[in-house]
Amino acid sequence: MADDAERRKVAARRGGRPTRGEGSASAARPERRPGTALTLERGWEYAPAPESREIVSIAPEYGLFVGGEFTPAESGKTFATVNPASEETLSQVALAGSKDVDRAVGAARQAYEQTWGRMPGAERAKYLYRIARILQERSREFAVLESIDNGKPIKETRDVDIPLAAAHFFYYAGWADKLEYAGFGPDPRPIGVAGQVIPWNFPLLMAAWKLAPALAAGNTCVLKPAETTPLSALLLAEVCQQAELPPGVVNVLTGAGETGAALVAHPGVGKVAFTGSTEVGIAIAQAIAGTGKKLTLELGGKAANVVFDDAPVDQAIEGIVNGIFFNQGHVCCAGSRLLVQESVADHVVERLRHRLTTLRLGDPLDKNTDIGAINSRQQLDKITELSAAGEAEGAHRWSPPCELPKKGYWFAPTVFTCVSQSHRIAREEIFGPVLSVLTFRTPDEAVTKANNTPYGLSAGVWTEKGSRILWMAQKLRAGVVWANTYNRFDPASPFGGYRESGFGREGGRHGLAAYLDV
Ligand code: NDP
Repeated sequence: MADDAERRKVAARRGGRPTRGEGSASAARPERRPGTALTLERGWEYAPAPESREIVSIAPEYGLFVGGEFTPAESGKTFATVNPASEETLSQVALAGSKDVDRAVGAARQAYEQTWGRMPGAERAKYLYRIARILQERSREFAVLESIDNGKPIKETRDVDIPLAAAHFFYYAGWADKLEYAGFGPDPRPIGVAGQVIPWNFPLLMAAWKLAPALAAGNTCVLKPAETTPLSALLLAEVCQQAELPPGVVNVLTGAGETGAALVAHPGVGKVAFTGSTEVGIAIAQAIAGTGKKLTLELGGKAANVVFDDAPVDQAIEGIVNGIFFNQGHVCCAGSRLLVQESVADHVVERLRHRLTTLRLGDPLDKNTDIGAINSRQQLDKITELSAAGEAEGAHRWSPPCELPKKGYWFAPTVFTCVSQSHRIAREEIFGPVLSVLTFRTPDEAVTKANNTPYGLSAGVWTEKGSRILWMAQKLRAGVVWANTYNRFDPASPFGGYRESGFGREGGRHGLAAYLDV
């Protein structure tokens, strides 16, 4: 009651209306504008805080980056890249075909044989440091561009994607002249030309994960960014020019799935690195089987985030939110299955729902935004379809009150309770802001349910007992297990999965192995 009185006073001081807990069921809720907040429990609104779009200039057309220069595709074909928050066409981008792949692999091979492969590691390191520093210098430009092309909130691109991308170049620059101490023998050799295919969920960061270790190890690269998010890879190509990286060391081919398929199949490619769906990963593995090409696959996931009854609830709620709603849930290691101990399940779900009412969905360029746009119409359809399947199969669906912007691709944060393990939403990767909540009674049951998936990329454990964390980490069949935190990344830490989540590791010393002939 005292709280209610205080709430009324605060609301009066701010000129707002008292809202929840005001003691009157008829009191009106404040009006919600699309693109601002999901709900305004506290009776006041954030003022818009948009980042300026002016800092980045997007050209009407982009060519392919081959041999250090931007050139049109051999066929002259282009495709549009759109802003998923507004559906506005941002630019026309060259569509690379097999002749362009040939040209890019040829340029990479030449650069490997004539300059990069022969260059002492200490010299290669200087270029990587230079790229890292330029990324830092131009970080605001990259952050805005990534938000516009991908739909993710500026606070994530600004605080996560871009700093981590720079950190990967810094980290691997440090390895370039120390490869003989990396534990792969006295004289580890590069492989040659790496063909790298990346997805749309972390466009610049995935490019950095692929390029930095490959270049540090002495390989040259042909990178194929995702069709829906080519712009930051093209800006990175400009950074390579700015850093005076020798022509052909990094090549960027924009295009569709066929471009990626032609790249990985090209006989001049010695190493293939892919991040994306399990389906395409399997197709790539089949396509290059028997060719002797080295392969790493970082594929999908359906991670369990396990909350025990002794977990610090406040931190766990933040971890759950970060685990599934970070980057609109477009995260391969997202904690998309929440496993909560039955004795605290109601309490945790109630607290979680309350927390979700404070998330702000809308303009990705607004610095207050927590949840941005879904990356594409196709992905929105997939999330919508799987969520409908969850309801049809009997799970209980809940989203905070939320009016979505009229234009663009949007999906409200969604929580499913009463989920059983056989439901599609508990088995399939949704790759969107959708959480499935399941319960367990004993630690053994938690482990059994967590491991009941064909994937094996990541998991989270929330408990105050160190011994339980270690026990769980041993039992969980996942490449990465976070304890009392979630979605933490560091360039020094290896990342990767097994089973249908792929194989090989990216990051850390382990990440070098994929690019060395060991
Ligand atoms: P894909 O796996 O199709 O795309 C990833 C990358 O591979 C893109 O650059 C894509 O090009 C390219 N590609 C597509 N087909 C081939 C091929 N046959 N050979 C070589 N490269 C190819 O993911 P989608 O974007 O289609 O997303 C589909 C689903 O995959 C999502 O709903 C999500 O569940 C999952 N996914 C998982 C990711 C993860 O990190 N685990 C990342 C992205 C998606 P293009 O963009 O032109 O199609």
